[in-house]
Amino acid sequence: MAKVLIIGAGGVGRVVTHKCAQASEVFPEICLASRTIEKCEKIASELDREITTARVDADNVEALVRLIYDFGPDVLINVALPYQDLNIMDACLETGVDYVDTANYEPPDEARFCYAWQWAYDMRFKEKGIMALLGSGFDPGVTNVFCAWALHKHLDTIETIDIIDCNTGDHGHPFATNFNPEINIREVSGRGKYYEAGKWIETDPLSVYDTYDFPEGIGERQIYLMYHEELESLVRHIPGIRRAKFWMTFSDSYLNHLKVLKNVGMTSIDPVLYEGRKIVPLKFLKALLPDPASLGPVTKGKTCIGCLISGKKGGADKTVYIYNTCDHQAAFAEVGAQAVSYTTGVPAMIGAMLMKTGKWHRPGVWNMEQFDPSPFMDALNRYGLPWNEKIL
Ligand code: NDP
Repeated sequence: MAKVLIIGAGGVGRVVTHKCAQASEVFPEICLASRTIEKCEKIASELDREITTARVDADNVEALVRLIYDFGPDVLINVALPYQDLNIMDACLETGVDYVDTANYEPPDEARFCYAWQWAYDMRFKEKGIMALLGSGFDPGVTNVFCAWALHKHLDTIETIDIIDCNTGDHGHPFATNFNPEINIREVSGRGKYYEAGKWIETDPLSVYDTYDFPEGIGERQIYLMYHEELESLVRHIPGIRRAKFWMTFSDSYLNHLKVLKNVGMTSIDPVLYEGRKIVPLKFLKALLPDPASLGPVTKGKTCIGCLISGKKGGADKTVYIYNTCDHQAAFAEVGAQAVSYTTGVPAMIGAMLMKTGKWHRPGVWNMEQFDPSPFMDALNRYGLPWNEKIL
């Protein structure tokens, strides 16, 4: 039984709150806190059990510490933005509370993400006897667990990993992002990067593409190579990986809009002077784009995210594809959010649940592939993200 504090009342925060509320045997008390308390209250009003809500600015460590002492959580789930990760980890260290997130730290003024900043907390978390579980969303998150599962169940060694993220969702807008627009555009417009033969190789943004034939009626789609954070931890924690790549599908409309916006400077994070005031073009663009939470009622289609993993079993070559498909409308009917928020929020709740039921608890800072994947794979089936696997 654990008191859970959820920070961030966006699309993902909504799903985490609904899912923790469903698992009342594990989370008897919930507090949802965000910068805008009205968003917390709206989510709370839809639940069939009482939860606490609070206003907090997670850029302010003192305010976080006060909130933590007031509510007294056993675990904190951070689904605010990657900019807040280190502040929230600092507050957890000060108060001795376990920490879960779904995205690694990014400095606000630099479009760059990596685990180094958060891995550097490992000794301090160990000394305090608390745990941080990093990247407990879908990708990163479930994709890391799929790799651990492939090693546990199907392969003696992993040689290549292709993580393939497909979203067929149509929301009717010419251009919108299905999670926070600022974070999404920073990620997609960054340079591609993959790992091969002991080296990281960089590519121009979205310049490498291929096609993949997705299961469950989705069919063939174009996929684009991108850099994604789980590649860094998988290469570090799974010995013997020769090649690791991450791919994502995009609609033509999304790519055309992104190209034009980039060409005119609207995706830049460098401040410009406008009528005597400094503004960041990407932050201004975010203000114009639909709030991802508003896409829930109108998005139709599915996500299909999976890992194509090759290696050796008993000396022979073997390839396995492990994946989940999630329907946008079914997700909305259950928790009022589209599938991208759903597929992130469910694993965040499961990560916290496994920590608090002792199945995955170890002091220090950890990534998902470092634990026994079996209880996580079981929980995915129980809490709304059933998976499939194919031996190819
Ligand atoms: P949203 O923008 O919808 O929600 C973010 C929420 O965080 C907002 O409600 C916002 O509050 C709150 N917030 C932002 N800054 C602060 C702050 N300083 N203090 C308190 N609250 C704050 O984003 P999503 O829900 O789409 O994404 C949430 C997280 O999930 C992101 O980190 C994203 O990168 C990650 N993610 C991970 C995925 C995965 O598979 N691993 C996939 C998709 C997302 P307010 O509205 O009041 O400003």
